[in-house]
Amino acid sequence: MQLLGANDMAKLGCGDCDGCSACCRGMGRSILLDPYDIFRLQKITGQNFAGLMQEKIELGVEDGLILPALRMQPETDACGFLAADGRCSIHAGRPGLCRLFPLGRKYDEKGLHYFLLEDACEIQNRTKVKIRKWLETPALSQYEGFLTVWHELRGNLQEQIGKRQSDTFAQKSNVLFLELFYKRPYDTEEDFYIQFEKRREEFLASVISADQ
Ligand code: SF4
Ligand code: SF4
Repeated sequence: MQLLGANDMAKLGCGDCDGCSACCRGMGRSILLDPYDIFRLQKITGQNFAGLMQEKIELGVEDGLILPALRMQPETDACGFLAADGRCSIHAGRPGLCRLFPLGRKYDEKGLHYFLLEDACEIQNRTKVKIRKWLETPALSQYEGFLTVWHELRGNLQEQIGKRQSDTFAQKSNVLFLELFYKRPYDTEEDFYIQFEKRREEFLASVISADQ
């Protein structure tokens, strides 16, 4: 697997998807949402977490941790944001994993890397595009820094839940995690990263006592 950085080129250009919406359908609960996704969704739809939970997103469990994901609609098995014309109705505010596809992310001691998911996209003759351009994400270095911190925080909590084998710890830390990073509405007029950092500090200060 070739690891890539934001300034590398990769075969990503699919002609604006050319009527295809394959990766917006039948995805189960795999399009997981991070706090920045909720911020973006809140901003573009005007709905907070509770509103989004009505039909557009749902909760799942990954290694003991409750995480929200885009919800495939029961009637169509497609994302609830997919419009009748096969286009994304929230394109400018779509989640990070939607922007990423057909790339994957890998984290190591040097930080975040990208790799191409070979044969994942339905279109074969893709053109080379710089990853930075493909992601259409402002302040990309800051975003990548956030993703790395988020990945670590999530992984540490999953590890703790697995190690402690305590229902009380699992329940309390999940409630705290959901409340602080997802349910509490973000101020979409203010900087996301400052809000996230405050919540992360609050979470780390509180989670220590979650099994007491
Ligand atoms: S599978 Fe490829 S072409 Fe089809 S919607 Fe997804 S990114 Fe676009
Ligand atoms: S948010 Fe948009 S791009 Fe992402 S799965 Fe839904 S319709 Fe597709």
